[in-house]
Order: sequence, then C-alpha cells, then structure tokens
Amino acid sequence: MDQEKLLFFKGLLEGRLHTLLEEAGKAANDMRQESNGDFPDPTDRASLESDRNFLLRIKDRERKLITKVKEALDRIDNGTFGICDSCGKSISEKRLMVRPVTTLCIECKTEREHQEQVEKQRGTRSRGGFPY
Ligand SMILES: [Zn+2]
Repeated sequence: MDQEKLLFFKGLLEGRLHTLLEEAGKAANDMRQESNGDFPDPTDRASLESDRNFLLRIKDRERKLITKVKEALDRIDNGTFGICDSCGKSISEKRLMVRPVTTLCIECKTEREHQEQVEKQRGTRSRGGFPY
C-alpha cells in the first residue's frame, strides 16, 4: 500500500480513536461521579488518557474497540497494515474502508466464520439430548 493511502487510513483510525477515547472518557467520568470520586485529577484529559488504569474503567466493548484501533495504528507504523494475518495477502481497500481495524482478508474471514459456526453447531450437538 502506498504512503498516501496509509496516511489516509492513519487519519481515519486516529479520528476513530479520538472519538472512542472521548466517549470512554465521559463514561469514566460518569463512573467517577457515581463512586464519589477517588480520581486524582479529573480535569486533566491528557493524564486521563495516558492513565494505565483508564482502560480498566471503561466498558468492555469500548476497550476492545480502542485496543483494535491502536493495534491497527501500530500495524501502519510497522508496515503490516492491510496484510492478512492468516494468509499474508493484501486485504482489499474496499474492505479496509469499511473495517479499517480488520486483520483478515475477506476469504480468511469468511472461512473463519464458517469454522466458528461449525464448531458452535458441534458444541450444541455434543451438549445434546434436548429435543430443541
Ligand atoms: Zn487471508
């Protein structure tokens, strides 16, 4: 992927990260108010964001998303962004536009989902015995 496109995705991901951190910051702030504040410096957003406990306070879903976006930014920095984790081929730009945090090309993703489904069905069956 050329530099210009990498910069485009970097901007996209940084924007997303910013939004997520802002939302998570608000959530953490709400939690702090509920717990009557044992937060050292609530007005300092920068220290809030770099606080290593920060991610523990926010919702699981947001935390996962933030981690994913950060990992994608890491991949841009180390030159592996847009390369499938599983087969090593390029992930299509169309797919990256929709899901810039993805680590799998559409073929591998489809295959993985299929495998998960098969495993799930096996799991259901092995629990077995119920008529539904
Ligand atoms: Zn692949």
